[in-house]
Amino acid sequence: MKERRFEDKIVLVTGGNSGIGKATALAFAAEGATVVIAARRENLGNEVVETIKQKGGDAEFIRTDVTEPEQVEALFAAIGERHGRLNHAFNNAGTSVMIRRTANATLEEWDTIMKTNLRGIWLCMKYEIPMIRKEGGGCIVNNSSILGVRCNDGLSIYSAGKHAILGLTKAAALEVAHRKVRVNAVCPGFIETAMSQKIFDHNPAAKDALIFTIPIGRLGKPEEIAGAVLTLCSDDAAFITGKEVVIAGGHGIRP
Ligand code: NDP
Repeated sequence: MKERRFEDKIVLVTGGNSGIGKATALAFAAEGATVVIAARRENLGNEVVETIKQKGGDAEFIRTDVTEPEQVEALFAAIGERHGRLNHAFNNAGTSVMIRRTANATLEEWDTIMKTNLRGIWLCMKYEIPMIRKEGGGCIVNNSSILGVRCNDGLSIYSAGKHAILGLTKAAALEVAHRKVRVNAVCPGFIETAMSQKIFDHNPAAKDALIFTIPIGRLGKPEEIAGAVLTLCSDDAAFITGKEVVIAGGHGIRP
């Protein structure tokens, strides 16, 4: 019998219509949470909601572009109106662009990545912190990356944003620890999702080259990140805040 650690909890998952976010939304719902999924593609969001409902869970999709401040504000207003509260949040929405070195990247690429991956997380936290505080505590998990703690040739803007997420996570954790709001980050290694597939489509040899760097010998599964996010939000992690958890199959152990 599956544990139901999130019974009666309202949980937000940004980017919950695909990949890591979808796996996490399904996992929270399976453990009793009412899940709010926020992303742009409505058809995919509605499909995840339908899957959750078919399994006896509860979820809704609220179309949100995290790069648009007024849409983020409207998301949290809707959560307040419909659910009256928020207990946990997984700030996961993110994007990547084709591999490009620092000197070749464009202003547009910088803005797209930073507005989605970094500013989007900060904007969501701006509303999540007071709402979770009001409930007497809860947890925020931000999705950084293995590229938040290491660097790869050609992904400097993405890496800069993912490193900055860890700074934001730790500083915010300090601010609200005494209010029982815990703020942590996950740093996934290379996970099989639409995002990584885009890179492999562009450069098929990259997959085997990457797997070679992973001691466990395979890419990760979205469910393996979801498991860590749920643990961080559960009472099992009640003394963990301001930390990044690297989930990468051992990638990075070797110097
Ligand atoms: P996916 O492409 O499957 O998921 C990306 C998600 O982000 C989608 O749900 C997408 O929904 C959402 N999203 C993108 N832009 C926006 C936006 N402007 N507003 C709202 N939602 C948005 O890839 P992953 O599951 O792999 O990526 C999820 C997170 O995991 C990202 O932050 C990524 O950087 C991180 N990550 C992924 C790794 C991997 O190897 N796959 C490794 C390390 C970290 P929609 O397009 O409908 O808006």
